[in-house]
Amino acid sequence: MAQALGNLFILAAPSGAGKSSLIKALLEKHTQTDMHNTQMQVSVSHTTRDPRPGEVDGQHYHFVSKDAFRAMIEDDVFFEWAEVFGNYYGTSKVVIEQTLRQGIDVFLDIDWQGARQVKAQIPDTATIFVAPPSKQELRRRLTARNQDSQDVIDQRMEKAVAEISHYHEFDYVIVNDDFDAALAELDAIVISRRLRKEKQVVRHQALFDALLGQ
Ligand code: GDP
Ligand code: ADP
Ligand code: 5GP
Repeated sequence: MAQALGNLFILAAPSGAGKSSLIKALLEKHTQTDMHNTQMQVSVSHTTRDPRPGEVDGQHYHFVSKDAFRAMIEDDVFFEWAEVFGNYYGTSKVVIEQTLRQGIDVFLDIDWQGARQVKAQIPDTATIFVAPPSKQELRRRLTARNQDSQDVIDQRMEKAVAEISHYHEFDYVIVNDDFDAALAELDAIVISRRLRKEKQVVRHQALFDALLGQ
């Protein structure tokens, strides 16, 4: 993929660590302040799992059947895809490419397998791992979220250890204990990525031309 002005971010974490909440809060904050005049978007994945109560097709996920998903794999629609908790999850290529090209930052909320695939294709991606402050707290959050059955929660707790074992493959690590502190840390990563010279040169080309008297 060609160098694009938009930054690509991946947030991965065991289920319940708080990545969806962090991305949502960051987006709200940046939308209010219009920081750096840069828009940000969360990529909407395709999944074969059933919608949870309150989840809207096209907003939280594109919910598709396993057959439809397999057909999309054949058609090379996905930038990356993985099997998580017995369901398929994938990120479509076209949307990511178009969005980055427009200079919009994109967030992917995907698992470690997907993170690895994206990093291999776009090394410039900032990969961020969100860890819970403890196992007990992770279970408490999964239960408090009130979205999954006890069986599913047990399954997700088992998978949590597998997900956490990949934390060292990421560029950044955030421990989501105090939510506001974790949000500030995520914000710092996003801002520092935007301020890299490669991005600033493009964003402020007119300014530098003027400053240098050209
Ligand atoms: P959550 O853990 O509560 O956010 O539950 P979800 O059902 O939303 O996500 C399940 C798993 O699939 C998580 O590990 C996500 O990071 C992962 N996931 C979601 N979307 C994608 C995607 O597009 N690609 C990949 N590779 N993983 C995804
Ligand atoms: P994920 O997307 O990683 O599965 P969520 O963002 O859905 O996780 O968060 C899981 C639950 O934990 C939600 O109910 C959320 O409100 C709560 N939560 C997230 N971060 C914190 C935190 N720092 N302290 C307490 N509760 C949190
Ligand atoms: P949930 O079923 O709780 O929504 O998601 C379970 C896991 O799947 C989460 O860790 C989430 O990040 C991951 N996930 C969601 N969408 C994708 C995706 O498109 N690709 C990959 N690889 N993982 C995904």
